[in-house]
Amino acid sequence: MLDPGLVGVVGAGTMGSGIAHVFARSGIRVALCDVDSRFLERAMGQIRTNLGREASKGKLAVAEIELALERIVPTTDRKELARSTVVVEAAPERFEVKREIFRALDAMLPEEAILASNTSSISITKLAAETKRPDRVIGMHFFNPVPVMALVEVVRGLATSDATFAAVKELSVRLGKTPVEVNDAPGFVSNRVLMPLINEAAYAVMEGVATAEAVDQVFKLGMAHPMGPLTLADFIGLDVCVDILRVLHEGIGDPKYRPCPLLVRMVDAGWLGRKASRGFYRYDS
Ligand code: NAD
Repeated sequence: MLDPGLVGVVGAGTMGSGIAHVFARSGIRVALCDVDSRFLERAMGQIRTNLGREASKGKLAVAEIELALERIVPTTDRKELARSTVVVEAAPERFEVKREIFRALDAMLPEEAILASNTSSISITKLAAETKRPDRVIGMHFFNPVPVMALVEVVRGLATSDATFAAVKELSVRLGKTPVEVNDAPGFVSNRVLMPLINEAAYAVMEGVATAEAVDQVFKLGMAHPMGPLTLADFIGLDVCVDILRVLHEGIGDPKYRPCPLLVRMVDAGWLGRKASRGFYRYDS
């Protein structure tokens, strides 16, 4: 069994802060690293708020809040990660950014340490090839909001060893998550299946088949989805959806993944969804 001791999380944004939260809540020490101390301050504030929310729902003892926060060391110094047994990278979804991080961590971490990426769409096999430990590189794809969502897609690159997979599967269970094994392919399973649904919903609106509200109602009432595909697209960010569709289109080569022109136009207009107060719906800022 892997004794995580210290884990590293790289990137303290939406996902990295949630990932640090679930490690700390599970009794595991975390070095949370970002390039900018302001992001670290924001992340620690967010984690405190979210732990408080869990305590108010009775999911966590109030005394556990401070204990969990004390397990997280926020840092802008990557060297603080040097003794980690596992590092989860949650930096922006750009290959060059992740490549630099993987190369640097590979040079610094103990030989047996596991390097995981929370990427939504970048090839784990390609990231692994940037290191001298491709057998110990794996995808650990959490879902937003991390403390709430039960799933971790555990993504096996071509060279990922069975031992690495078993260790990460076990670690995911320790975090209270349900790991699901998938192989490395564009968009893995989640986005490969979800994004064409969102894209087709956008086509239905563009072609005047129905309003956004009507499309969402069909899925909520007819298919028991907790939220319709266009509400979900606004939540994810329409720019993120278009980026992932482009990765699928390029990686799989099938024209069915071509981003809907309406989605592209909305992104051009800055209507990125909830974070921009406007997407398929309008939100109070
Ligand atoms: P984000 O923009 O909220 O956070 C990224 C953080 O990384 C920022 O705080 C930034 O300052 C930091 N960063 C940038 N370069 C860095 C570096 N070199 N070293 C350390 N930190 C660095 O992004 P996010 O939404 O948290 O996404 C992070 C990753 O998680 C992406 O790969 C994304 O595809 C994936 N993901 C996102 C979601 C989602 O719903 N947001 C869901 C699943 C997976």
